[in-house]
Amino acid sequence: MAYPSVIEVEHLNVRYNSEMALTDVTFTVSTGDYVGLVGPNGAGKTTLIKALLGLLAPESGRIEIFGQPVNRFSEWSRIGYLPQRVTSFNPLFPATVKEVVGIGLLGDKPFPKRFVPADGEKIRQALNLLEISHLRGKLVSELSGGEQQRVFLARAIVSDPGLLILDEPVTALDPQTRDNFFAIINRFNREKGTTIIMVTHDVGGIGQYANKFLYLDKKLVFYGPFSDFCRSPEMSKHFGDHSQHVICHQHD
Ligand code: ATP
Repeated sequence: MAYPSVIEVEHLNVRYNSEMALTDVTFTVSTGDYVGLVGPNGAGKTTLIKALLGLLAPESGRIEIFGQPVNRFSEWSRIGYLPQRVTSFNPLFPATVKEVVGIGLLGDKPFPKRFVPADGEKIRQALNLLEISHLRGKLVSELSGGEQQRVFLARAIVSDPGLLILDEPVTALDPQTRDNFFAIINRFNREKGTTIIMVTHDVGGIGQYANKFLYLDKKLVFYGPFSDFCRSPEMSKHFGDHSQHVICHQHD
């Protein structure tokens, strides 16, 4: 079932102890949007992602994902998530590439969680797409950082999610692999209509791919189409003409 909006956030406030990480954040992401989520260090980007995934409880506000309140959301296989630090993967955990990718299919299965034959085909397709089929039997802990990143992206897409959330995914990748990575994400967005949230520090590059720009600095500084951002005198004043140009120059 298609929902007109994939994410609805209203008056979201998130606090860590005495400090507000996000104040009064409101925005809506529609089906098929590709959102570039940008902001300085400590702006609350990862915090926002964690709130969207129900990993932390907001102080107040409303979050709905695919039309359901996030705290009651149950269809987690509809969301693919690539976290910022794949190094949080326990290097001593002896899992193979194929097993780690398969974890992406277990989210919605009832207990006891078991693979069915069709899952093998989905895993094969994901490995193919990320060009890591030859690594299928290797231990993830023995792969390079870039190879691990591809394994975790394969895990994020294996369930063919309607929403893909990527938190600074390209930091460990060489330029060639990074371009391939962006091309794959783009194909998901354009061909399957997958909604994408991409956290990035590459403000000059993200306009090539994303149609919406979300600039966060503990509150929402801007959210909307790139074209609106690039024409906004208010944003020229906030960022300065030069920075606005850097963000806008690659966007057609
Ligand atoms: P970066 O670009 O550096 O990754 P970010 O925009 O993702 O930053 P967050 O990681 O969301 O920023 O952090 C936002 C603020 O909340 C920061 O000031 C950070 O120190 C604080 N913070 C994040 N996680 C916690 C936590 N678990 N406990 C207390 N404070 C936290």
